[in-house]
Amino acid sequence: MTAVHTSSFPTSTVLGYPRIGPRRELKRALESYWDGRSTREDLHGVGSGLREESWRRLDALGLGASPSNTFSYYDQVLDTAMLLGAVPQRYRGRSVEDTYFAMARGAEGIAPLRMTKWFDTNYHYIVPEIGADTVFALTGDKPLAEVRQARELGFETRPVLVGPVTFLLLSQAAPGSPAGFVPLDRLADVLGVYEELLGALAAEGVDWVQLDEPALVADRTDAELAAVRTAYERLGSLTERPSLFVASYFGDLGDALPILAGTPVEAIGVDLVHGALAYGGPANGGSVDGGPANGGSVDGGPANGGSVDGGPANGGSVDGGPANGGPANGGSVDGGSVDGGSGDFSTLDVLAGKIVVAGVISGRDVWRTDTERALATLLAVRDRVDNVVVSTSCSLLHVPYDADLETDLDPALRRRLAFAEQKVAEVVELAGLLASTPRGGAAPSVRPTPALPVGGSPATATATATVTATAPVEGSSASVMPAAGPPKPAPGEGTPVLAAPVEAGAAREGRSPYAVRAAAQAEHLRLPLLPVTTIGSFPQTAELRAARAATVTGELDEAQYEHRVRAEIERVIALQERLGLDVLVHGEPERNDMVQYFAEHLDGFAVTRHGWVQSYGSRCTRPPILHGDVRRPAPITVRWARYAQSLTGMPVKGMLTGPVTIVAWSFVRDDLPLRDVTFQVADAIRAEVQDLEAAGISIIQVDEPALRELMPLRRESQDAYLEWAVDAYRRATSGAGDRTQIHTHLCYSDADQILAAIDALDADVTSIESARSHARILGEPAVGDFGRGLGPGVYDIHSPRVPAAEEVEELLRTALRALPADRVWVNPDCGLKTRTYGEVEAALANVVTAARRLRKTA
Ligand code: GLN
Ligand code: ZN
Repeated sequence: MTAVHTSSFPTSTVLGYPRIGPRRELKRALESYWDGRSTREDLHGVGSGLREESWRRLDALGLGASPSNTFSYYDQVLDTAMLLGAVPQRYRGRSVEDTYFAMARGAEGIAPLRMTKWFDTNYHYIVPEIGADTVFALTGDKPLAEVRQARELGFETRPVLVGPVTFLLLSQAAPGSPAGFVPLDRLADVLGVYEELLGALAAEGVDWVQLDEPALVADRTDAELAAVRTAYERLGSLTERPSLFVASYFGDLGDALPILAGTPVEAIGVDLVHGALAYGGPANGGSVDGGPANGGSVDGGPANGGSVDGGPANGGSVDGGPANGGPANGGSVDGGSVDGGSGDFSTLDVLAGKIVVAGVISGRDVWRTDTERALATLLAVRDRVDNVVVSTSCSLLHVPYDADLETDLDPALRRRLAFAEQKVAEVVELAGLLASTPRGGAAPSVRPTPALPVGGSPATATATATVTATAPVEGSSASVMPAAGPPKPAPGEGTPVLAAPVEAGAAREGRSPYAVRAAAQAEHLRLPLLPVTTIGSFPQTAELRAARAATVTGELDEAQYEHRVRAEIERVIALQERLGLDVLVHGEPERNDMVQYFAEHLDGFAVTRHGWVQSYGSRCTRPPILHGDVRRPAPITVRWARYAQSLTGMPVKGMLTGPVTIVAWSFVRDDLPLRDVTFQVADAIRAEVQDLEAAGISIIQVDEPALRELMPLRRESQDAYLEWAVDAYRRATSGAGDRTQIHTHLCYSDADQILAAIDALDADVTSIESARSHARILGEPAVGDFGRGLGPGVYDIHSPRVPAAEEVEELLRTALRALPADRVWVNPDCGLKTRTYGEVEAALANVVTAARRLRKTA
């Protein structure tokens, strides 16, 4: 026996599997444990049952090699920090569970660790804190315990670990670290723990270990690339270790590929769906358009009625909005052809002597794979390297469990769908096809991917819909009850004419220059200096959620539900008048979620019943599926806005979700470039903007909190993305007249990195997160160049804390130092839906007090 365990790699695998449970069992178990309603043993029982169920399922589906240690009670990066002993002092002195959940969610008086998005997905990970003196030590035996559990069930598994380089690159320097310190400086010490762990796994008889290094698909400095070499030369030279499989995903390895290839690791995983090596291409030849399920896409969802499930909010550390919905968008964001890649696999030649784990099945979308093209890709790769294993492009964590559960969906759409279960079956099928094709032989004929009934115009493959401003239809088809939705126009009848995609830049025309608009709006709106407003939503009360759920079960009819929503709008308007806000909102009581609500009212979207995807911890979202041409059959928000405006003499903002955010938080068709799909959505929103304006709404906010999220990981693609994303936004908003004030809102904490693009959105007023990050954004020199109205948040809505008027005043003073007074707006960081009325009333009262005091002096 050699010291290095070198058993061959089975022919098929997946990089990871969902873990929240097909019925969100883990979510429920966690929340009950956190509430003290169940014991640690209960929780562990559920975890162990879910792991067992997954291994049994993967085995039954015929998968060659199953991963282990992909289960987590909260997050795999947090698990890794625990495993390495990287627990900041303030969380210590508790039981293992309490320490773990304190880092994730906070504890009495202690804030949790920061949480942020996992690459360009909507999964959030916990950011470890690493200092110059962090003591690393192998802690606990989670990977070993999972291997043992699987073995007792008769399964040999491959433990998955976050790789040492990615772990350190995703960590942040502990507060008080010496200047210039970066966590990667601690690589040598961290590697010591990985060595010990690999030794322990080898002693356990483990043949393969998977080390995930997705950080290598972004641009990396020479020092970082050198760290990759150091890490894998050192781990590879261990005498007593399992074989090493380094997995990369969410893009191509670029410069890291030859470096990894030069180290002694035995297998390297490459993403053949996203990035330079993408073989791309749709699973289907066309778009399903307007299946019968469309008008009735309400799914009778869960009790809370929302697409973001109502789990307890994280202790307050999410970067981004409260309960931001949305999946890992699987689409290529390059905006260009759907075929992202060149089909040229010559860069893989350096892997000739390695096992190549070929990620040909997308782990980030919900579409069936074009088996023929995937097989052709696998054959092309096999021509260059000795050994090819069929796999997913990334962990299946980012997709729901089982498309077969979606029995309410249009069968034509359902046949196109592949969730985790179906994707595993595709992996197995492709591995069989690959094995049965001799080298140099012709590809076997492949069962074709189900064809689509192609509806609408044949031009849809390259076209985007032009704007058709529909006259407002009060109270008719824009129902909150999609089951009563409008009939679909027959093709060619009332169908928008499809036009060629807009030329780059063309969408930017439309409105007068900002200065002209600003003057027209000042004249029309007559707002005070430092106008106070909110971001849109008011607290979503338990009664509202219950009412929504009751409409689904039929206990509440449409008229009764309408009545409750109207009553809520009345209360929110009265409250804002009493508090003295200057620009009011209707509070969004009719919305379950800022994306799903629009998806339910637009053609081209479907909503699932069980399609939950983990967003963070126990939180899941149920992203809508954008599968056909997007059209707005009738106005969506107009009657609510008009009703709210009828109650007050103050201006009420119309409230819409922007096109980029709608696609970012949906699973998007893959037969058109994401850019074109986004423009279709933009056209629907544009029509809504024009209808709001025609209904007498003088301020319209179009939110784009996900603008930053879709940003490509590689710098070279970022400008092109921002260009079309900005164009889509402008297309959505530029139909408004000069007198109508367009607002936008972004709450991603990295807004400072894309300030120029935000300015290019050309919204008259932009509200951004700022209070939570202590006005960091106002310290950015770029803020001074911002050319339009700006509302840096003065109230951190992620926390139950009520800010004092003096605090708000201080933040406003900071804003007034950075910006001219007539451009400063006063608003919270984000929507108020996760807060209580008690908190909101007290906080907004202080915000108004602060603004009024400063108005006198500014
Ligand atoms: N208008 C939305 C709200 O207030 C914006 C939410 C968000 O930015 N995530 O809830
Ligand atoms: Zn927000």
